Amino acid sequence: MRPEDEAKPQKILILGGTAEARTLAAELVAQGHAVTTSLAGRTVDPILPEGTVRIGGFGGADGLAAYLRAEGFDRLIDATHPFARRISENAIKAAAISKVPLEQRLRPRWQKQPGDRWKSVASLEEAADALPSGSTVFLALGRQYLDAFVSRSECRFIIRMVDPPETPLAFPDHLLVLGKPSSDPDREADLFTAHGVTHIACRNSGGPAGYAKIIAARKLALPVIMIERD
Ligand code: NAP
Repeated sequence: MRPEDEAKPQKILILGGTAEARTLAAELVAQGHAVTTSLAGRTVDPILPEGTVRIGGFGGADGLAAYLRAEGFDRLIDATHPFARRISENAIKAAAISKVPLEQRLRPRWQKQPGDRWKSVASLEEAADALPSGSTVFLALGRQYLDAFVSRSECRFIIRMVDPPETPLAFPDHLLVLGKPSSDPDREADLFTAHGVTHIACRNSGGPAGYAKIIAARKLALPVIMIERD
């Protein structure tokens, strides 16, 4: 895009659902652009970004392309979570169909630091297999990613979720911790210590929001089963 075009007010669709997407929406609104952020609608009470917000799927890439065209957007920005693969694939296809330029703003993954005890794995199933019997595992994963761990009935699970589950979880031995992750590593460390956590299982999501638990694990020398993205 040419710099003179950047300065003109544009109609921009952000595919959001992340803190970074909210920051971006605020920046673009402040620059005078007409910004719509799209949320999938997974969170009951989401923090709403500045500008216009629409909620719910588009019906695949074709639906997204049709929406882009019908609403006359000038730009599409994919600022979704790096593990939200389908919507990112749809964004690429929809941009090609609609000829609306696409920018990807996906956050970089966390890098292992001295003192980190990570075991990197490629899938949820590998992560579940990597847990030693008898371990107390802190699962920092969304509801839709928990099933892979249910079969590890000899482990105890401490499960943090933003919203309470709609149906009871199938884990024989588990404790639910409701709420968002703290940004304070000491609070995360206190939580791990209070529940006797011996292992953390999480995805390499990158970004600052969930990083306090990684710092806390480093401080306590806890092993982290890190599910990497491709
Ligand atoms: P996904 O598997 O890539 O997407 C599944 C379907 O959900 C998409 O095909 C699309 O439905 C709809 N969708 C996803 N993101 C959307 C958006 N921003 N606006 C409108 N529709 C959307 O996505 P996911 O992993 O379920 O994540 C859903 C949302 O939660 C994303 O916006 C993401 O940024 C946010 N989020 C995800 C994670 C995570 O761990 N995956 C973590 C934090 C936040 P249609 O095909 O019908 O359009």
